[in-house]
Amino acid sequence: MKEIPCKLLVVGAGPGGYVCAIRAGQLGMDTVVVEAAKPGGTCLTVGCIPSKALIHAADEFAKVKRMAAGKTPLGISLADVRIDLGKTVAWKDNIVGRLTNGVAGLFKKAGVKTVHGWAKFRDGKTVEVDTEMGPQLIRAETVVIASGSAPVALPAVPFGGSVISSTEALALKEVPATLAVIGGGYIGLELGTAFAKLGSRVTVVEALPRILPLYDAELTRPVGKRLAELGIEVLTGAKATGLDAKSKALLVEIADGKPKSIPADKVLVTVGRKPLTEGWGIEELVLDMAGKFIRIDDQCRTSMRGVYAIGDVTGEPMLAHRAMAQGEMVAEIVAGHKRSWDKRSIPAVCFTDPEVVSAGLSPEEARAQGREVKTALFPFSANGRAMTMLAEEGFIRVTARADNHLVLGIQAVGQGVSELSAAFSLAIEMGARLEDIADTIHAHPTQSEAFPEAAMRVLGRALHI
Ligand SMILES: Cc1cc2nc3c(=O)[nH]c(=O)nc-3n(C[C@H](O)[C@H](O)[C@H](O)COP(=O)(O)OP(=O)(O)OC[C@H]3O[C@@H](n4cnc5c(N)ncnc54)[C@H](O)[C@@H]3O)c2cc1C
Repeated sequence: MKEIPCKLLVVGAGPGGYVCAIRAGQLGMDTVVVEAAKPGGTCLTVGCIPSKALIHAADEFAKVKRMAAGKTPLGISLADVRIDLGKTVAWKDNIVGRLTNGVAGLFKKAGVKTVHGWAKFRDGKTVEVDTEMGPQLIRAETVVIASGSAPVALPAVPFGGSVISSTEALALKEVPATLAVIGGGYIGLELGTAFAKLGSRVTVVEALPRILPLYDAELTRPVGKRLAELGIEVLTGAKATGLDAKSKALLVEIADGKPKSIPADKVLVTVGRKPLTEGWGIEELVLDMAGKFIRIDDQCRTSMRGVYAIGDVTGEPMLAHRAMAQGEMVAEIVAGHKRSWDKRSIPAVCFTDPEVVSAGLSPEEARAQGREVKTALFPFSANGRAMTMLAEEGFIRVTARADNHLVLGIQAVGQGVSELSAAFSLAIEMGARLEDIADTIHAHPTQSEAFPEAAMRVLGRALHI
């Protein structure tokens, strides 16, 4: 068997693993990355990027359809709007191809060796990979586990046939006439909204009392309102109990305990993602676990010396940018730099309609930490740029310590607010106070003007409301 010795072995080339490998290569470390599929992982191939491509196509389609229906106040009219989802998916696949090839190119540039195949641990420092050229043994001084996560299945509605995960939903060639989405978290709502805009009749089934349960009700209200406008039926407090394949229906127990049958050419199950920690030998390493995730410390070290873990396999928040930041940090730690996890903000974005952003603490979370806080929001209905874009729904909300005005959290809901997440995170990382945000000149006319206005409102001196 061919043996490859190396300084650093990275298992998995998702955003955590590929960033870690690139940074390690840049730092001159002899690095090998093993990936069973394409470089880029869930994020580039079946997650963040393809979902946002589909969401963008659906948004554009819905926009022109509204125009064709004479429903825009902009004075634009057109006729005969159609979508060829096969072409949309081919366009999305082209973006994925460019990005995965791009990662492969970055590996080359950084001098990282790649091995294509499924890694199986023999011990904490050795993995065996079945490659097209036969089995290879990789021995490393240090190992980074970056194996990511996979969709969780529902026993009552197992995957297969018409029951699909987000991966298959992103590759559909035709718009299903009816779609039932089980799970009202961000993945289910992003995709459910996109398919509703593409023409599907969508029903969302959520077991908890409200959608996007990780965010507060004030923040998610505009999303619920828009789902209703799009004709999406949302059943909260409802549980999927099975399928009626004959009548193509999802069987549900609704909040009052009564059964309900929901028409569903496709059933999209988005009830969460589980870490990939089984079936490839890491069970035998007997690493300490935190529930189903690998337990790590503030340097992403596992309980085994010289074995690190990053990304989704280490738990919430399961987000690509957290995985990347961990990957970069671990490469530097292995290279001997002094680093530890000291992030104040891991922004989270839901690319729903409208979009939702959260950086730092919500008012309730801040209060739950025993802090006396001041909080206020500034609505986009009082923002000129939002009016010019038909984007008046939503707001920016700022929460700060009452004593010294240190900003603890910033949330926003509204059209295109995902791009504001950069400013929000920067403010929190830099330790901004309300006065810093209020006194920073924001360009006019932009939606971002609602940010200093929200800070001024907390200070009791908002100008435009
Ligand atoms: C539909 C969808 C939309 C999403 N949207 C967003 C978003 O907008 N923003 C955001 O931040 N996050 C989003 N996410 C989450 C994001 O994709 C993940 O948080 C991120 O990809 C995690 O990165 P990772 O490196 O930990 O793992 P992954 O990206 O899952 O990569 C792990 C890689 O390891 C490989 N692997 C695993 N085990 C082995 C093995 N034994 N041998 C060889 N290779 C192995 C896998 O093939 C995979 O390529 C989305 C996810 C989904 C499903």
